[in-house]
Amino acid sequence: MHQLEFIERKVAAFRDARNWKKFHSVKNLSTALSIEASELAEISLWKTDEEVSNLIATPEGREKYQGEMADVFMYLLLLAEKLDIDLVDAVEAKLALNERRFPADEFDGSFDKNKRREVED
Ligand SMILES: [Mg+2]
Repeated sequence: MHQLEFIERKVAAFRDARNWKKFHSVKNLSTALSIEASELAEISLWKTDEEVSNLIATPEGREKYQGEMADVFMYLLLLAEKLDIDLVDAVEAKLALNERRFPADEFDGSFDKNKRREVED
């Protein structure tokens, strides 16, 4: 079993042991994912890059990032399971699309949105 599948099943088992699936609509999972992403962003809100670097250098700071990143990832996994979307396939497809949109030779060290190629996604 792929490691991503293994962890997805583990998160689903946690949910099912508490009978929480009934609360996990697409809307609620998407909203929870967004809120957790905001909690991740909140860690560095109003801090300078140097302050963030100093925070990450501490065990407590790393723990904060780790915890919020895990929350984001778990809701993403639950949403993927709900929608029957294989996240590995989804990333592969998106990367292939972005390879066509942003050819490496044209976007080497620069990001000019106007140069972005129009391709179907
Ligand atoms: Mg959180």
